[in-house]
Amino acid sequence: MPTIIQKFGGTSLSDPLRIRRAAQRVADARQSGFDLVVVASAMGAMTDDLIDLAEQVSPMPDRRELDMLLATGEQASVALLAMALREIGCPASSLTGGQAGIRTDGVHGRARITRIECGRLERMISRREVPVVAGFQGTSDDGEVTTLGRGGSDTTAVAIAAVLRVAESGGYCEIFTDVDGVYTADPRLVRAAVKLPRISYEEMLELATLGAGVIHARAVLFGDKYGVPIHVRHSQKPDHGTMISRENPDMEELAVVGCALKDDLGRVSIRQIKNAVGLQGRIFTALAHANIVVDDIMQTEQGSATMIAFTVDHADLSDSKQIVAKMLQEMGEGEMSVEVGLSKVSVVGVGMKSHAGVASRMFRALGEAGVAIHNITTSEIKISCIIDSAKGQQSLEAVHSTFGLGLGTNATMAMQLDSSQP
Ligand code: ADP
Ligand code: ASP
Ligand code: MG
Repeated sequence: MPTIIQKFGGTSLSDPLRIRRAAQRVADARQSGFDLVVVASAMGAMTDDLIDLAEQVSPMPDRRELDMLLATGEQASVALLAMALREIGCPASSLTGGQAGIRTDGVHGRARITRIECGRLERMISRREVPVVAGFQGTSDDGEVTTLGRGGSDTTAVAIAAVLRVAESGGYCEIFTDVDGVYTADPRLVRAAVKLPRISYEEMLELATLGAGVIHARAVLFGDKYGVPIHVRHSQKPDHGTMISRENPDMEELAVVGCALKDDLGRVSIRQIKNAVGLQGRIFTALAHANIVVDDIMQTEQGSATMIAFTVDHADLSDSKQIVAKMLQEMGEGEMSVEVGLSKVSVVGVGMKSHAGVASRMFRALGEAGVAIHNITTSEIKISCIIDSAKGQQSLEAVHSTFGLGLGTNATMAMQLDSSQP
């Protein structure tokens, strides 16, 4: 029988009833003969509550201590889930990330998984005992507890699926959450959004990176790299959700499959600096060493002075500022300024590679909605615009509507083909 990995998100484990329902779902799958590994997030808003608590004790909590604290959220839920499983006769034991063999680098708060020593998981599976693994956490080589960044339990689940090579025996990874699957836009922001039955890794990676919080971007990266099919589905319903995989035949003709909004971006600008050879490498290497993912990069020249600006998630702003400030001090030149209140609205689709007119249509829709565009970035399969956060939802609705994304696949396809001809 194939091995499947079942990951339960915070809202799916927010109270004892939901924990018992999740346990029943796991027990049913085991009863049907599947080998299983379960990954759980912290209950409900536990991670937010723990961060609040930390900030009441220390406004800028020490990173190591914050990881120690946040890791307890997932430890509580795996223990409860394992108890609920045992209660209904399903052999199960909870494991911390470290006990499950999840090894990471040492960057607290946004650690990356470096390897998984999966002997203990394999031994439990061979005894038909269900490992219930705490998501979002691991240990570094020197034994420190680390966390993977907000939403990181998805990545724990797909990484385990990858090392256990579940796909080779027809297995996959199920992400149980509080929506029916991946929608054309966040259904909380765009009422007309519709569920996509399937989406390619490439498109899902872009959407997740650009703000679709339904799955952690690094989970999609692992899925793509190791060929793990990922099924995003509702934890309280039996219905099929969205399959994220390499195959995406239905969608090939669509220029745009979905759109996303990333709120709360900060922009760091460096002015009055000489464009010395190696300058950019120096700045962005220092940010990369801190695992900071930089969004957009802009550079302009004014006489002999250069201006370099980049956007980052708000959560990474304070570290980015410190890194840049230290560097400018060492170089003895340059001025730094920081802006907040920016958002990014994006459209994504592999079909963009072969359809013209997508960008112009997006810009027109934003213009008609009265939204000013502060910067534009594109790749082969996405177009993103930086806008004021106050216009975020309005922008998302405008681009969703202009590409007919709420109309269902066939109507959307007809509309996009019809009006994206040059
Ligand atoms: P979990 O606790 O299960 O990890 P999350 O809150 O992390 O759940 O992710 C689910 C949420 O993602 C949904 O409630 C939804 O508001 C949001 N979301 C954002 N973009 C999308 C999208 N394109 N499709 C579906 N949900 C989305
Ligand atoms: N509990 C963590 C968070 O809230 C991890 C996760 O939910 O995936 O970010
Ligand atoms: Mg999540």
